[in-house]
Amino acid sequence: MNRRQRANVIAEQDEATAIADRALGAYLGLAIGDSLGATVAHLSAREIALEFGVHSRLIGGGWLGLKPGQVTDDTEMALCVGRALTKAGGWNLRAVCDELAAWLRSAPIDVGHACRRGFRRYIVEGTVQAVATEGHATNGACARNLPVVLACLDRTDLLDRYTLDQCHISHHHPLADAAALTLARMTRALILGHGMAAARTEANALVREHPVFMFKNYRGPCSADIVDTVRMVLCQYFAASDPRACLIATVNQGDDADTSGALVGMLAGATWGAAALPTEWMRRLDRTIAAEIRAQVAALLQIAHVSSTAATA
Ligand SMILES: [Mg+2]
Repeated sequence: MNRRQRANVIAEQDEATAIADRALGAYLGLAIGDSLGATVAHLSAREIALEFGVHSRLIGGGWLGLKPGQVTDDTEMALCVGRALTKAGGWNLRAVCDELAAWLRSAPIDVGHACRRGFRRYIVEGTVQAVATEGHATNGACARNLPVVLACLDRTDLLDRYTLDQCHISHHHPLADAAALTLARMTRALILGHGMAAARTEANALVREHPVFMFKNYRGPCSADIVDTVRMVLCQYFAASDPRACLIATVNQGDDADTSGALVGMLAGATWGAAALPTEWMRRLDRTIAAEIRAQVAALLQIAHVSSTAATA
């Protein structure tokens, strides 16, 4: 191997290490944002300010009475999706449904209405797709989609299809679809190192197609409605310059703060990487959850690599 070839190999290894760090950052950021936000979920920004000043620590509590560093349904459902993909060695919609159904049977600490309805329908009828709806849609399916992004990192052609299939288990709505696709594409671009500008292009495309997602200067509410959630998450994410500030600003808006925290944490982690996540939060995050996240990230990136190698072979 000559000097130039050696330099190329080193550059490729550096690139792979950076991608793995951002992938891990996205997943740990999701869990940290979930745990941080859960403490102040269902409170208003004013109530949070009165009780905490600024809420910035992984202390648990909140309406679910969590232990410090404990996560909620957002992270638990993402882990179900990731578990299904890693066990199956790739995409398998029924395996995803089976994991989510098993999770529902385990009496989770929290579960949204649409998710409960979707997983129950699968258990009773065996169908993998919810009936399409209009009107409002919630944020549950979008919040658990990160493992699909990691498994499809090198395959944009598969990312959209699998994201929609995954979401339609419980949420089948044009705005929920558009939001999940946008966040999936943004997260993918960020993990691959294309930066915030590439993510902005995706977010702007969402607003052009569905102006209801206009996020500039969004002040709330931040309910479980997918439109409210995504407007808050995008507004806070694009205003931030580091993951800590990004997560704190978001969860202190309250309402569905565990899910908005999870999604903004995912984007922040995908942007700045796991190494940039505050040590005080990393130390407090539930150890079993953090260990499963690390194992899943490695396995999902391997699936992505295998699938891209097969596609180009
Ligand atoms: Mg939650």
